Amino acid sequence: MIQNPIPWPGGARCACAITFDMDADSLIHVAKPKDGHKRLYPISMGQYGPLVAMPRILETYARLGRKQSFFVPGWCFETYPKAVEAILDGGHEIGHHGWIHEDPVATEGDAQRAAFERAMASHRRLVGARPRGYRAPVYNITDQVLDLALENGFLYDSSLMGDDVPYALQTPRGRLYEMPVHWGTDDWPPFAHYDEIGYMMPVRSPSAGLQGFWEEFEAQYQAGGFFMLILHPFLTGRLARWRAVEAWLETTLDTRDVWFARLEDISEHLKNLEAGGCTLRTDTLPYYAAPQS
Ligand SMILES: [Zn+2]
Repeated sequence: MIQNPIPWPGGARCACAITFDMDADSLIHVAKPKDGHKRLYPISMGQYGPLVAMPRILETYARLGRKQSFFVPGWCFETYPKAVEAILDGGHEIGHHGWIHEDPVATEGDAQRAAFERAMASHRRLVGARPRGYRAPVYNITDQVLDLALENGFLYDSSLMGDDVPYALQTPRGRLYEMPVHWGTDDWPPFAHYDEIGYMMPVRSPSAGLQGFWEEFEAQYQAGGFFMLILHPFLTGRLARWRAVEAWLETTLDTRDVWFARLEDISEHLKNLEAGGCTLRTDTLPYYAAPQS
């Protein structure tokens, strides 16, 4: 079923990660730069993430003794330092997720470099180390951002959709591992309803919304692949949804042969496999040097 299966540590059948993008209310400020600060409802919806959902999520991971990957915009580091501290206290990884969730395509050039470096400064100040991974706001990564990630010694990206399992990206500047995402494992389609940014989906019940994720897991598990969720604390950290994810996680960790890992650990594993002579699928970038017609 998978052309390029990856041998997982300990012979595990499937690699598994439940990652979170802690965007908080950055989304409304970047979407409505003139008056986002006056829009109390979307601010409160976003703030629910760091203030209410994050303690809940971190408590689950601590209880289960598991570590995960969180992606946090630099602006959220500065605005919600306690949430960042709690993530680090739990031994989790924090990846780069832009400055204030700006779209890399819309800010390409000097503005994107400035935003990227501003977020790096927050990582240095509050984490004390540089991030190893990057996930683009709205997945809109560009060749420029890949260059910035390589310039800063990153190991992986998690924004592209080109395969079922991790693969490699080779650019003129160097090599990164790709931890692929897709919309079927992202919680925006089932759970986000956000008029201010033009995202008007009907909100599904927790069981119906999560059902699609579990079907994705079963397919990956059968194929010996890679199952990753891309969740947001303000969406899936809501009480009923998180209770359901927590119950799934407990059962899965007890009964299935999964390697539940942070993305930086999965990337390190790929690096070791390559060093040992294993060949990974590799995309050569840029995909196109000029507009196509
Ligand atoms: Zn985000």
